[in-house]
Amino acid sequence: MSQEKMVLGFDVGGTKIGIGLGGADGRLAGKARIENLNTYPEEVLPKMVSEAKRLVAEVGLSMADVAAFGISAPFPADPANGIMTAPPNNRHWKNVPILAYLREQLGIDGCFENDANCGALAEWFFGAGRGCTDFIYLTMSTGIGGGIIAANHLIRGGRALSAGELGHICIELDGRQCNCGMKGCYEAYCGGRALAQRMQEELRDNPESMIVQLVDGKLEEIDMIVLEKAVRAGDSYAVALWDEMSLRSAQAFGLYINVFNPQKLVLGTLAWAVGDLYTDPIKKYLPQFCWKEPLEACEIVPSELRRDIGYYAGVAAALNFLKEKRGE
Ligand SMILES: [Zn+2]
Repeated sequence: MSQEKMVLGFDVGGTKIGIGLGGADGRLAGKARIENLNTYPEEVLPKMVSEAKRLVAEVGLSMADVAAFGISAPFPADPANGIMTAPPNNRHWKNVPILAYLREQLGIDGCFENDANCGALAEWFFGAGRGCTDFIYLTMSTGIGGGIIAANHLIRGGRALSAGELGHICIELDGRQCNCGMKGCYEAYCGGRALAQRMQEELRDNPESMIVQLVDGKLEEIDMIVLEKAVRAGDSYAVALWDEMSLRSAQAFGLYINVFNPQKLVLGTLAWAVGDLYTDPIKKYLPQFCWKEPLEACEIVPSELRRDIGYYAGVAAALNFLKEKRGE
């Protein structure tokens, strides 16, 4: 199979679907976007097909010139069979066999990956992970997810295909309750949603708090952006919480570094939005949680693709699908 061929990528998000047409050179030849808020799959799936065909035709190609497609989709899903079982933000989508549908309608082969793994693949093929054989990608937003590239391969794990769930490692015995049902997960300490809930609880009876004043008393508006503002302004509660968050992140990163000896930890969302204020304190605490040699061998860097990562996610999944097919 020629490497010059193009691939199609579909990033199926809760509010929009990004479609990208791209090649191994990292350039997108075309992109499209379909609104996906409160939709039914019967109406959206045919649109995905027609938009994909339009992108291919617009650059003067036919579907025979497209080597494969990749689907990036949220969990819970049945990745082995390419079925979106119950995507968290699309309540009308139940057991949608999206992989089989696109294979049949586009007439080409494709793959289905969870979106966090696709983030890792996108950074690997097109972003901060280029040229690495071993790196870890972490999404740091409302939840914490990620993907692991080890020995030049995406690690999916065994039957559950659940490897790379980097937010759900227990870092505190009998610790804070996590959304996943476990206690003491890293996400329960450092996920954006968990931290917002914690601030809302702890500041409920504290109208004088800088954080509460920043949101004019509307506790439900407290989020990571407000926390960052309060930290920069030197609020003592915010600074202490940020410090605890940094210590917890160092604890998790130290585990990843000792277990995988990655060349890079690539951090998405919060890390690139906040900058050094986010990464510097984590780096300060890291020597407590991992060995010196793998720590010195690991660069901690922000995502390069940032907001565009969605357009690359499915394209990267397709390129990885072809790479695995070639046995590389
Ligand atoms: Zn958890």
